[in-house]
Amino acid sequence: MSFQKFNFHHQVAGGVNLAGYTVPTPIQEQAIPEVMKGRDVMGLAQTGTGKTAAFVLPILHRLVQGERGLVRALVIAPTRELAEQIHESICQLGQLTRLKSITVYGGVGVNPQIEKLRRGVEIVVACPGRLLDHINQGTINLAHLDVLVLDEADQMFDMGFLPDIRRVLKHLPQQRQTLLFSATMPDDIRRLANDILTDPVTVQVDSIAPPITVSHALYPVAQHLKTALLLELLRHTDTESVLVFTRTKHRAKRLGEQLEKSGYRAASLQGNLSQNRRQAALDGFRDGSFQILVATDIAARGIDVSQISHVINYDIPDTAEAYIHRIGRTGRAARSGDAFTMVTSEDSVMVRTIEKKLNAQLERRTLEGFDYSVPPPHKDTEFARPPRQPQNRKPQSAGKPSKQGSNNAPSDALKASGASAKIQQHRSKPSQASPPQAARSRYPQRSQRAH
Ligand code: AMP
Repeated sequence: MSFQKFNFHHQVAGGVNLAGYTVPTPIQEQAIPEVMKGRDVMGLAQTGTGKTAAFVLPILHRLVQGERGLVRALVIAPTRELAEQIHESICQLGQLTRLKSITVYGGVGVNPQIEKLRRGVEIVVACPGRLLDHINQGTINLAHLDVLVLDEADQMFDMGFLPDIRRVLKHLPQQRQTLLFSATMPDDIRRLANDILTDPVTVQVDSIAPPITVSHALYPVAQHLKTALLLELLRHTDTESVLVFTRTKHRAKRLGEQLEKSGYRAASLQGNLSQNRRQAALDGFRDGSFQILVATDIAARGIDVSQISHVINYDIPDTAEAYIHRIGRTGRAARSGDAFTMVTSEDSVMVRTIEKKLNAQLERRTLEGFDYSVPPPHKDTEFARPPRQPQNRKPQSAGKPSKQGSNNAPSDALKASGASAKIQQHRSKPSQASPPQAARSRYPQRSQRAH
């Protein structure tokens, strides 16, 4: 199937060509015709499936023909990065339409946003808090809204934005089209969907399955050896662009510094950065000035760097969904990627949860030549300890991690994370670790994005 079947307005079809898209992804194939019919849509799709264009294209098609200068489409997203990402897609796909899109989020000056809103725009991509500020101050007029999109609704719920969203909804016209996208469907999101969608069509692609273009591996290791192992992995592996995840902001910052000290072009992305520094880290990662970006889950939301070759989980995520989100950063659309996860004995429960979710046992690997027997330092340095548990998160294994526990040789960690697991030798070239060609050629290669 090609994009011609959708019969987009020629300015929108031209934008699709310029973006280099030739074949719609499954979510686009399913969602676009329904959105074009004016139906409310519940989209179950994770990042990396092409879901942004699945709502952006029909919205552009609808808006290109109508009145200008009024806010007619509102996209609400959980993070500034995701909002910028969506805005960029709108600008890219809508480059021939002369429709105007702006982003609205906190942490940056409000006046430029007010000025742009005053001059007139058709599309607003917003994070909930700042959007509410504009609504309360009367600096945004949403009376002419045709389409509302809630993107990554599950993440907005996790971040506590649901009350804000319900407040925003009170200010929108009842008569409108509503599209809700979410990677997972917790009860609260289902309730929200029931409340705000009218006779919705549900479209679903791989809602819990990871992109098939990703190959996974676990690296059992003691907590205090994670940084050394990471450096060895980076040394032995052909990496283009690596996204490393840590559990806390502090660890992201410190690990970024350590990688820099070891000679890598690395930056960290975490919530304590100013918007300018976040943007600089992201831009540098996109244009290749940084080869490695160390991030927390929240900060990494919405990162779309088409050439990410590896996602490395320095710390295992808190949930199987978060694992799928993280590895969704590599193997995006047409590309293949590798996802490495360092696991200690404390991670065994989460490893089993992830494997259950993926319905597959993850390969355990050891890195040949790496000295796993180095004892922990006498001084209790921060990276020798497991990361702090985020509040209200239950410990994953019974009992406190003992000193001995955190000093596990890989065999102990392996036992804890699946005794029957086979230890595989490290495969140093991504080509060997990549999935078969058939899996990779799911979508055509697209042209490089201009950032
Ligand atoms: P998303 O899931 O919306 O974040 O999109 C993931 C990536 O796939 C983005 O870099 C898009 O530009 C790209 N993409 C979306 N649709 C297509 C398509 N039909 N063909 C090729 N690439 C696409």
